[in-house]
Amino acid sequence: MWVLDLVKPWVIYWEDLKKVYNYAKENKFAIPAINVIGSNSINAALEAAKEANSPIIIQFTYGWWQFNWSNALSPLDAQILGCVAWAKHIQTLAEKIWVVAIVHTDHANKKVLPRLDWLLEENKKYFKEKWRPLFSSHMLDLSVEPLKENIEISKKYFEEFNKLNIWLEVEIWITGWEEEWADTTSDTKKMYTSSEELAYAYEHLSSIWDNFTLAAMFGNVHWVYKPWNVKLRPEILDEAQKYIAKKYDTNENPVNYVFHGWSGSEEEKIKQAIDYWVIKMNVDTDTQWAFWEWVKNFVEENKDYLQGQIWNPEGEDMPNKKYYDPRKWLSKGQESMKNRVIKAFKDLNALNRN
Ligand SMILES: [Zn+2]
Repeated sequence: MWVLDLVKPWVIYWEDLKKVYNYAKENKFAIPAINVIGSNSINAALEAAKEANSPIIIQFTYGWWQFNWSNALSPLDAQILGCVAWAKHIQTLAEKIWVVAIVHTDHANKKVLPRLDWLLEENKKYFKEKWRPLFSSHMLDLSVEPLKENIEISKKYFEEFNKLNIWLEVEIWITGWEEEWADTTSDTKKMYTSSEELAYAYEHLSSIWDNFTLAAMFGNVHWVYKPWNVKLRPEILDEAQKYIAKKYDTNENPVNYVFHGWSGSEEEKIKQAIDYWVIKMNVDTDTQWAFWEWVKNFVEENKDYLQGQIWNPEGEDMPNKKYYDPRKWLSKGQESMKNRVIKAFKDLNALNRN
């Protein structure tokens, strides 16, 4: 049995997404969730999924939506349309190149909830027309709020998502150091979620439906730090699975976990996390570096051809267009990012799952 025995290649959602997550659980692999900022990185992710022959999650971060429209501060509706355009870009390509893709939006804190409301409106419009949502899932991140409030607001949104067949991702406590809105260095206690806290979230969310994932915190940190800074304790995930299964008399391992802040983590801990049913692994920092590294190499290798529109070692009148043409160096970055994403598939035991 393979993924393509379960779902058709395209952007998948709702029960199809459940089939694929369950398949990942049964076969002990995690699906890489790649943060993207435009068509170059989206295409790198899609190409990687095609080559790796496996499903992929492609996700957008709120702060970057405006990047699809303008670098300048942009009106809210333009940002929303930028994000919608990305989702449609993935739909158009995934269908043609036969990729199973999951389209997701990353961390949404309290301040950006109005933007999520707008996206929901876009989902509604799309649903009316096509009987499917535009996005497979959205993340809510109210992890800096008290747990009760976090879950209360998340439930409200989940009820709306449910009507549109959209999955929910919720963060319980905080990914370390680099959330865009919170400095968490001062409160490392919140970097470890307890079984009771996860059970609380599980109980309330599963009272609505079971199509949700939990980003439990076990010492995760965004960005790359020296390994000794990151004290990952994936056994927290296992403990909570057992606690919840017993408390609510569910099947074994009822929780679908998401791993934030993978970059820089030890291999052994990553393997352990997958063993404890992490099925979505966020990848961002390492793919950013990969993109930049090959652009940097290109610039270094062709330095003498990149100092002006004309003039290079071959002559004073020689044009340099074929070196500074953005297609030249952007395609280098795209290829390098693609390679890095394929490595992620390999590290997550996710190659050739289609
Ligand atoms: Zn994150």
